[in-house]
Amino acid sequence: MKILVINAGSSSLKYQLINVEQSEVVAKGICERIGIGGSKLTYKPIGRDKYEFSQEMNDHTDAIRMVLDALADAKIGVVSSMKEIDAVGHRVVHGGERFSKSVLITEELIEEIDKLSVLAPLHNPANLMGIRACRAIMPEVPMVAVFDTAFHQTMSPEVFLYGLPYEAYADFMIRRYGFHGTSHLYVSRRAIEKLGMPVEQTKVITCHLGNGSSIAAVKGGKSVDTTMGLTPLEGLPMGTRCGDIDPALVTYMMRRMNFDCEQMDEYMNKKSGVFGISGVSSDFRDLDDAAAAGNARAKLAVDMFCYRVKKYIGAYAAAMSGVDAIVFTAGVGENDRVVRERSLRGLEYLGVDVDFELNETCPRGAEVELSKPGSKVKVYMIPTDEEMVIARDTAALAGK
Ligand code: ADP
Repeated sequence: MKILVINAGSSSLKYQLINVEQSEVVAKGICERIGIGGSKLTYKPIGRDKYEFSQEMNDHTDAIRMVLDALADAKIGVVSSMKEIDAVGHRVVHGGERFSKSVLITEELIEEIDKLSVLAPLHNPANLMGIRACRAIMPEVPMVAVFDTAFHQTMSPEVFLYGLPYEAYADFMIRRYGFHGTSHLYVSRRAIEKLGMPVEQTKVITCHLGNGSSIAAVKGGKSVDTTMGLTPLEGLPMGTRCGDIDPALVTYMMRRMNFDCEQMDEYMNKKSGVFGISGVSSDFRDLDDAAAAGNARAKLAVDMFCYRVKKYIGAYAAAMSGVDAIVFTAGVGENDRVVRERSLRGLEYLGVDVDFELNETCPRGAEVELSKPGSKVKVYMIPTDEEMVIARDTAALAGK
């Protein structure tokens, strides 16, 4: 089956066409600057040259149409017609408590996703634009929604509740949900396969460290805790997000700086994290370079980040009464050896014995066991593949 995987943002749309039986990406790319002028489609048929087309896309429907035209183009396409696309899988950020699994998209489901927009005002409406555009252009093709929150729906109430009046949960759905679920699911499954232990006995800590970062405790193959909460702001400090803070400082800073709600949101989401600490960049490549050149605040930002990663690894080892494997994934986790090393040094007491030379030299893009052969706790670098999870779930549901 050929599955088109769509990850729609407010002004961008990433796509991959995946042949599920072969677990093979056929083509992929991105539409950028949708609806804001200067739109561009990037199209990469795998194994061939990349193409870029500058053409205005007023909305997501224009974007999907351009993607389909490229995929089915007589010269550069990878399918003979749109009919070869068996189903479409959509990434949806927030599934609330309603969705612990992927589901087939219907009109009712679209309404439910829309209702959940109160919990993810930046993401769900954008995801819905992608869904509606596909339904308009290819109404006959089955579609599936795959939720970022679904994998974490196995967390128990003592983990997911905040210490607020219970009515905050009962009346307003205020609780911890967690995100990056598709990635935590994928890399934890790969790690469990590598461990070769019975799934029920496994304790895995997955560190998804990218522009947005979260860590999950995965016990017996199920998520039992994760660092992100009601929104993707909680937990680790990130590229531009502050992560865990004393909640009292929100009202304090609003009074002090005369911020309204939007300004405070922007302060915590866009101006903070390693960017805010360093004053240099949200990108760890820039931070590592600046730190190596002697920039003290860039070094501080990286140190802070790694300290928090280590702190959560310790917390989750305690939460699961042990750990069999620690996994690093996503942009930073897969590429930044400095972050991996600083986050792992000092965990020897847990039984973590890392081959730091291998950590320095290990190739990018491949799965690597970073721990020494005798290490009690295995450490893996595993490239994440959220699109493959979405394609497989979509094929399973659409094929029925
Ligand atoms: P997103 O959360 O947007 O999906 P990614 O997982 O793609 O993010 O991670 C992007 C981040 O990964 C970049 O902002 C950068 O900090 C980091 N990164 C990418 N490549 C490297 C590299 N070679 N070395 C260090 N950090 C990297």
